Amino acid sequence: MGEPSRTEELANNLCLVRERIAAAARSAGRRVDEITLIGVTKGWPADDVRILHGLGLKHFAENIDQHAAPKAEACRDLDIEWHFVGQLQSNKAASVARYASVVQSVDRASLVHALSKAASRAERSLDCLVQVKFDSDQGRGRIGRAGPRSRRGDRSGRGPSVHGPHDRGPIDSAPSEVFSRFADLSRSVRAVHSEAGLISAGMSGDFEEAICAGATHVRVGSALLGERIKLR
Ligand SMILES: *Cc1c(COP(=O)(O)O)cnc(C)c1O
Repeated sequence: MGEPSRTEELANNLCLVRERIAAAARSAGRRVDEITLIGVTKGWPADDVRILHGLGLKHFAENIDQHAAPKAEACRDLDIEWHFVGQLQSNKAASVARYASVVQSVDRASLVHALSKAASRAERSLDCLVQVKFDSDQGRGRIGRAGPRSRRGDRSGRGPSVHGPHDRGPIDSAPSEVFSRFADLSRSVRAVHSEAGLISAGMSGDFEEAICAGATHVRVGSALLGERIKLR
């Protein structure tokens, strides 16, 4: 028997990840269809996106615009929702707004304005998660709060619609503890903004704990695509 093809490999990984999600949902007493799997394809070619899409995956994430834009362009014929999950400079907002449906990594008001303007100019709808850090551990603990949701004809964008946490918490806390703090924060935000139902938390190593704490979106890279050679 030869090497498994890339399609077989990805199909197998996707199946395992879906089983893990289903098991986590079951033990959390949640419905599996409450949880959206996002394939994080950074460092992997557009061909892999195409294969995973063919296997039924609809949500994909990237973290660097200069890699994401050509990949999204190469997959333009596919019905895909792109999530942007990396640090973003305002001067890249116009580019990201052309392909992304969600920016999960908004960390300042000026970026919300830039994205809102870019989305309405591109006549596209765009959701944002704004990161809230729990402590000074730069860039780790984040909760999402949404920004622009610009639609065709809605030039101002809509006020912030709130979503949930993005990324995991401080390294020195157990993931389960951090995720439950995210869930608490998300609940209090949702009390004010009822539409704020999205909680993006959990990666390959810890998405079960995130699901247990209420994550609606899990961002899975290596468990789906394999360990990438660290080029970035
Ligand atoms: C790379 C990345 C992921 C996926 O991480 P894995 O551990 O490979 O699953 C999730 N979220 C963000 C923001 C990332 O940059």
